[in-house]
Amino acid sequence: MARYRGAACRQCRREKLKLFLKGERCYSDKCAFERRSYAPGQHGQARLRKSSDYAIQLREKQKVRRIYGILENQFRRYFFMADRHKGVTGENLLQFLERRLDNTLYRLGFANSRNHARQLVRHNHVLVDGHKVNIPSYLVKVGEEITLKDKSQKNSAVNESISAVARRGVPSWLTADHTNYKGTVKALPVRDELTLPIQEQLIVELYSK
Ligand code: SF4
Repeated sequence: MARYRGAACRQCRREKLKLFLKGERCYSDKCAFERRSYAPGQHGQARLRKSSDYAIQLREKQKVRRIYGILENQFRRYFFMADRHKGVTGENLLQFLERRLDNTLYRLGFANSRNHARQLVRHNHVLVDGHKVNIPSYLVKVGEEITLKDKSQKNSAVNESISAVARRGVPSWLTADHTNYKGTVKALPVRDELTLPIQEQLIVELYSK
């Protein structure tokens, strides 16, 4: 299960958008994007040239991929799944990404970033309907209950995340019970609940070439 291991803040600077990849740091004045909101590298501050349609589509795809911490091949698989699924491809794609177990844990507020959530899942802290699931890409279904193991409930990073969750809120497709360290999938996520500026149509155009 490969993942990107480079500098997270570099990705925000490249996409010219705060992607909130580093938990609490993203809300502090240590945020690299707040301090240097230009692209990384030697030519990061060079004069902007007009981007081609392809470049705009590519950037959009990279941005979404980086938000969810997914590498290219897996992202492409999500696209083909979304394309085969009934409904609007772009919206299906975002729904699949939102339904990932690591994202769901992050949305519930038990982790301060998707990377943190991924680590909790990989390290066997999470139960889905009472069964151990350690696959971050597991897609949650309506009615499933996500719980943290008893031992994991003492984890200080988890408790810090819970106390900070009010800032971003829990989306309406999930119900969180932070006292008992559990959450339920009430419904499948819908497009309107995604607040990040994503133009999924550009990704569909890119992969449809
Ligand atoms: Fe992005 Fe967070 Fe780093 Fe800021 S601190 S640049 S939002 S990952």
